[in-house]
Amino acid sequence: MLPTEHTHKGDGMGDQEETKTGGTLPQERRLVTEIPGPRSRAMRARADAAVAAAVGATMPVFAEAAGGGVLLDVDGNSFIDLGSGIAVTTVGNAHPAVVAAVQAQAAKFTHTAAGITPYELYVRVCETLVRLSPGRHDKRALLVSTGAEAVENAVKIARAHTRRQGVAVFEHAFHGRTNLTMAMTAKAMPYKSGFGPFAPEIYRVPGSYPYRDNLTGEQAAARTIARLHAEVGESNLAAIVVEPIQGEGGFIVPAPGFLPALQAYARQHGIVFVLDEIQAGVARTGRLFAAEHEGLEPDLMTVAKGLGGGLPLAGVVGRAEIFESVHSGGLGGTYAGNPLSCAAALAVLEAVENEGLTERAAAIGALVEGRCRRLQETDPRIGDIRGRGAMQAVELVDPATGAPDPALAASVAAYAHRNGVIVLLCGTWSNVIRFLPPLSISDALLHDAFDVLAEGFARA
Ligand SMILES: *Cc1c(COP(=O)(O)O)cnc(C)c1O
Repeated sequence: MLPTEHTHKGDGMGDQEETKTGGTLPQERRLVTEIPGPRSRAMRARADAAVAAAVGATMPVFAEAAGGGVLLDVDGNSFIDLGSGIAVTTVGNAHPAVVAAVQAQAAKFTHTAAGITPYELYVRVCETLVRLSPGRHDKRALLVSTGAEAVENAVKIARAHTRRQGVAVFEHAFHGRTNLTMAMTAKAMPYKSGFGPFAPEIYRVPGSYPYRDNLTGEQAAARTIARLHAEVGESNLAAIVVEPIQGEGGFIVPAPGFLPALQAYARQHGIVFVLDEIQAGVARTGRLFAAEHEGLEPDLMTVAKGLGGGLPLAGVVGRAEIFESVHSGGLGGTYAGNPLSCAAALAVLEAVENEGLTERAAAIGALVEGRCRRLQETDPRIGDIRGRGAMQAVELVDPATGAPDPALAASVAAYAHRNGVIVLLCGTWSNVIRFLPPLSISDALLHDAFDVLAEGFARA
């Protein structure tokens, strides 16, 4: 049975006008105005006069409610959600258990500052992360608010522990938009252009991109390690920071063996191996953490996005002896580990277990990959199909040369947006369409969405 069926009942069209809560939305794609409709257009005009244009907007419509596999806009149009607000609402938007947990906690207290007056919820989230993260070694965890903050803290901890400064990152990497994490992120537009100078001691090396480099995992790792050895030197390296599947960089799954070889190299030289699970973690890939696909046991792991079920929460979890290198009071932040976010995260992790969401992610992945393969049979512009579980993507290319085709990606995405399907692009060349549906979506909605995408490809 789908998690949708007991948690997000569609009661027909009638209740939509009165009850715009995520849990009661009809599970259907339905357009009742042109896109964008009049209310979204009016809000856009207000936004243009008040909101920094730099914020941008992928979708032309404004949100009213969301749940199950759909998002309702302010004009009453129902979109199929294949983005989950960038892999955040993994258990489903406004998941009933998350809503209940947040409401109950909000009535008790909304904030104390965990570094001033601690509270049990923070401890329980850390206990859960310690218990569920890979490896049986002694672990500790730290909570913060955003993914970039988690990455920054992992680097701080690694530097304090090793007393070294260098940080190795990869081509196509994305780690955030703060100054340090901009330096760690690969793509100039829109993330870095004009915002330098960037933090020093960040070294970018090639990783593993099987579709384009034709290397095995072992070969790619040997290339990476040779570069690090020659250009940085192991005694200068505090950390290697790597995504198990590169997210914003194009949903690039490294060739098997690449990450284990990197982890072994790090361990051999006392370099802290940091796995950035911010996009791939929390059931998204068909395992609780993507590390599990190759039996990795990172020294430190960063988590965020799916963890808080839509509330801002991020964390670092890893080896106790590495954490112990940092002095008391050295890590934290005013809002870090907010109690509402902690309550939400505990509900999320419970839902993952109770609703069998890792299995559901794997099943969604099989369905999505199957639909992509069928499209590819008649459309050679789909150069590569890749991903794990409910984190799948197609890379679009010129079939003759293999050159990236960002125009095709933009055209198919725009067609989907006009026709009631939310999809996101990614990739260093913006030529990758990624699929990140909430795990509460039904098969019927997924098939409907891929019928729309097929039309989009046929017309582009
Ligand atoms: C989104 C993301 C981040 C940054 O998270 P924010 O919450 O946007 O700061 C870092 N690493 C990866 C892999 C991400 O996908």
